[in-house]
Amino acid sequence: VLGPGDDCAILKTRGANLLFTVDSLVEGVHFALGWMRGRDLGARALTVNLSDIAAMGGRPTACVVNLALRDGIETRVVDQIYAGLEDAAATADVDIVGGNINRARELSITIAMLGELRGTAMRRDSARIGDQIFVTGTLGDAALGWRLLAGKLQAPKGKSRTHLIDRYVRPAARLAAAQNLVSLRPMPAAIDISDGLLQDLEHILERSKVGAEIDALAVPVSSAYRSIVGEDLSYALGGGEDYELLFCARPRYSESEFGRRLGLPVRQIGRIVRGRGLKVTGAAKIAGWDQLRSGELKP
Ligand SMILES: [Mg+2]
Repeated sequence: VLGPGDDCAILKTRGANLLFTVDSLVEGVHFALGWMRGRDLGARALTVNLSDIAAMGGRPTACVVNLALRDGIETRVVDQIYAGLEDAAATADVDIVGGNINRARELSITIAMLGELRGTAMRRDSARIGDQIFVTGTLGDAALGWRLLAGKLQAPKGKSRTHLIDRYVRPAARLAAAQNLVSLRPMPAAIDISDGLLQDLEHILERSKVGAEIDALAVPVSSAYRSIVGEDLSYALGGGEDYELLFCARPRYSESEFGRRLGLPVRQIGRIVRGRGLKVTGAAKIAGWDQLRSGELKP
């Protein structure tokens, strides 16, 4: 009803459930300014919020943005960040209905976003024993991408390096795929993979009070991933920032049927079992597994 320019925005609801989420990107914690253009930074800040709305099967509707600026940030960069925010908002059909700017010691972008949902949401607490566990896309690309940008990992210039950095800089929120999943009956449990596959799956297990077995060798990785780190699956299992979907569904659709429904590659990586905890098979072959278990490889 009313966008930026007054003390508050005015929104009209249409009887749907409202989703409400907030997330921040903080310089020095989530990114360094030299890693990407302001335009990409703005778009990425919006996308990480879109991904949370997507994970529950919602449609994003409106958001407000807080930009914290430090000394030394040029107006040009601020304009680029806004341009990126507007690009991503237009693509996802979400309105930026207000915002705020303040001074801070580091640059950060915080976005609070609303979404709406007809009917019920895909939640983390609804995985059932016997469900198959699926993931979309490939995992670990973004974790390698930021390590390449941060100089923690070396790779020659070329297609692989570019692909991995691009997955970190320009992630996609799986909105359309999630819209399809939310229409399934029974509805899957779902989460977006922001912290890393194992950690995000643990969130589902804890909330659903079930256990899981996954086959590390079934976890999908890209050819770019393999070309840089070979058979080391620790980044695919533990690296975050991919914003792919993980969902737990009754055995009914195959990987390829899900792939067609969702318009994305879909891989079955394991199943939900009785009891508690996560058992990973195929892990003996994973270089860096001990570090991963002790958390040392987490960003
Ligand atoms: Mg999330």
